[in-house]
Amino acid sequence: MRCDILGVPFDCLTLPQAVERALSFLGGENAHTVVTPNAEIVWLACRDAALLRALRAADMVLPDGVGVVRAARKLGHPITQRVSGIDFAEALLPTLAERGIPVFFYGGKPGVAEEAAKRMEAAHPGLPICGTLDGYSYADAPEDVAEAVRESGAHALFVCLGAPKQELFMRRYGVMTGARLLVGLGGALDVWAGNVKRAPKLFIRLGLEWLYRILRQPKRIVRVFRLPAFMLKVRKYKTKGIKC
Ligand code: UDP
Repeated sequence: MRCDILGVPFDCLTLPQAVERALSFLGGENAHTVVTPNAEIVWLACRDAALLRALRAADMVLPDGVGVVRAARKLGHPITQRVSGIDFAEALLPTLAERGIPVFFYGGKPGVAEEAAKRMEAAHPGLPICGTLDGYSYADAPEDVAEAVRESGAHALFVCLGAPKQELFMRRYGVMTGARLLVGLGGALDVWAGNVKRAPKLFIRLGLEWLYRILRQPKRIVRVFRLPAFMLKVRKYKTKGIKC
């Protein structure tokens, strides 16, 4: 079942259900895309038609962030829990390791994807990471990135360029990569490489991971002001039916 929030069709799934669905995508022939928008990304999509199209074209849309869950509640949708991109990927990795499914990490500053790959291979023995690329060196050559992924034989591709770059890359070049599962994961590689710390569990439980990230990276403060703007849009949508 899908729930519309300002034109973005979120899937009402729990984390295990989302993982199961991703595994079914890997069993298929075609490329499937997973996006994990938070309130800020939905807000951006209201102003960026290409991003909105990319989100709408995804095969699975997971609610990353308490803002989306709050909006869903306000609109009477049955989304009860946040399924963050990083939690989703971390829940998927053990099965990728168990089944020997080759995965490619794309994004982050030079060296980040390699370090994340090293650490994930150590954490999940048997995980075949068949390639890594940083998210800056080939910014003007997305076809070359797609070709490198295809040559690596990756079945799963984690695209960590931040929004909207990752969504646009997956929509435009996803099929060319030959991967069956493409997931947009924002800053996940920074966390796995040990460069960025995730919020303590208490913050996450209280829905305050965003606050922790601002305390650690004050530059992000600008992005937080998009949350009230997003909630305002949701209210307008509810009361007047105005989408964006
Ligand atoms: N990034 C990239 N190429 C770019 C711009 C960004 O690889 O041209 C990477 C950046 O280094 C970071 C990630 O994309 O690792 C975005 O992280 P952010 O924390 O902003 O994303 P979020 O998790 O908030 O969606």
